[in-house]
Amino acid sequence: MKKAVSLFIPGPVDVAPEVAAAMTRPMIGHRSPAFADLYREVTAGIAALMSTRNPVFLSTSSATGLWEAAARNLAPRKALCCVNGAFSERWFTTIQKCGFSADKLEVEWGRGIAPDRIRERLVTGAYDVLTLVHNETSTGVAEPLEAIGRMMVEEFPDVYFAVDAVSSMVGLPIRIDDWGIDILLASVQKAWALPPGFSICIVSDRVIRRSETVRNKGYYFDFVAWAASAQKGQTIITPSIPHMYGLQTQIERIQKEGIENRYERYRRLAERTRSWGRSRGLTLFSEEGYHSDTVTCFRNTRNWDLADLGDRLYAEGYQFSNGYGKLKGSAFRIPHMGEITDRSLAAYLDCIDSLTGS
Ligand SMILES: *Cc1c(COP(=O)(O)O)cnc(C)c1O
Repeated sequence: MKKAVSLFIPGPVDVAPEVAAAMTRPMIGHRSPAFADLYREVTAGIAALMSTRNPVFLSTSSATGLWEAAARNLAPRKALCCVNGAFSERWFTTIQKCGFSADKLEVEWGRGIAPDRIRERLVTGAYDVLTLVHNETSTGVAEPLEAIGRMMVEEFPDVYFAVDAVSSMVGLPIRIDDWGIDILLASVQKAWALPPGFSICIVSDRVIRRSETVRNKGYYFDFVAWAASAQKGQTIITPSIPHMYGLQTQIERIQKEGIENRYERYRRLAERTRSWGRSRGLTLFSEEGYHSDTVTCFRNTRNWDLADLGDRLYAEGYQFSNGYGKLKGSAFRIPHMGEITDRSLAAYLDCIDSLTGS
C-alpha cells in the first residue's frame, strides 16, 4: 500500500489509528439498547468536555447542514451575520437560501470583529439572531468569543447567539453556558480529528422552545424531533454509527490528554508557527490580536510559487494548504489542530524550509 500523505490542511485532518480502528467495529441496530448506551455515552462525553448543561445532538451531516438547521429552527425575523471570510459569508448565504432575512456585518478578510461593531448593529433592535464563525478557517482569524458572548448575555439576552465552531470545538476554549451560546456547531474532521461526514450541535433549551413554535422546518434537522428521540437514546434517522464509535474513542483520548493540555498544545504550536513564519519574512494574514491557535494563515510575502511548493511537498509526503478561494497563490495556511504535535509540525516546517531554501 502507498504510504499515506500527512495532511497539513485545515480539514480533513489525519485520524489517530485507534480512532480509525474503533470506526471499523461491528454494526449494531440503531434501535437497540446497545445503541442507546453508545448514544448516551458519546453525548454525555461531549457535554463533559465542553462543560455544558445544554443538550448535545449528533448529526449525520457535515456542519453545513447544521447552518441550515440553525436557520430552520430559529426562523429568524432578521439575522445579523458576522462576515469576514469564506465560511462566514457562506453561512449568511445559507440563511438567505433557507428563505430568511439576514444582514451582514462585514469586515475585510483577515480582520477580526470587535464586540463594539456587533453592539452598534444590535442596539437598533432590528435583529433576533446573531451568527458568528468563531474561527475563520479561511483566514486564520479567531474572534474574541468570550468578550462577544459576555456582551450577548449582559446586553442582548433576547438575541439568539449561534456560533460556528467547526475548526475550534475542542481546539480553542469555549464556555457555552457562560457566554450565552444558544447554538454551537462543529464538523468532526477538523479539531476533533475524525473522518468527515458527521457533526455535533449543542443547543440551548430556549432554542428548542423557539423551534416548537416554528413551522415548515423540514424533517431532517428538526431540533424538537431530535430532542424527543434523544430521550430514548436515539436519533431520528439511521446515523453514522462508525462516527459514534470514533467519537467514543476520541473523547477518551482527549480526556487522557486533558482538554486544557490540548488547548495548550495548540497555543504552543500556533506560537511556534507564527514565529517560524515571521523569522522567514512572512507576515500574518490575520489582524494582530485575532490570530487563531488552530490554523495560521500567512501572506505569501516571499512570493513563493505555492502551487509548485504544494507539488513538491506532496512528493515529500505532505498535503499543503494553499490560500482559500480568492486567496489562492497570495496566502497559505498551516494547520495546528487535531493530532498535530510539536514533532510533526517541526518536521513539516523543516521540509518547507528545505524546499524554499529558507
Ligand atoms: C470547514 C468549515 C465549514 C464547513 O464544514 P463542512 O464539514 O464542510 O460542512 C464551516 N465552517 C468553518 C469555519 C469551517 O472551517
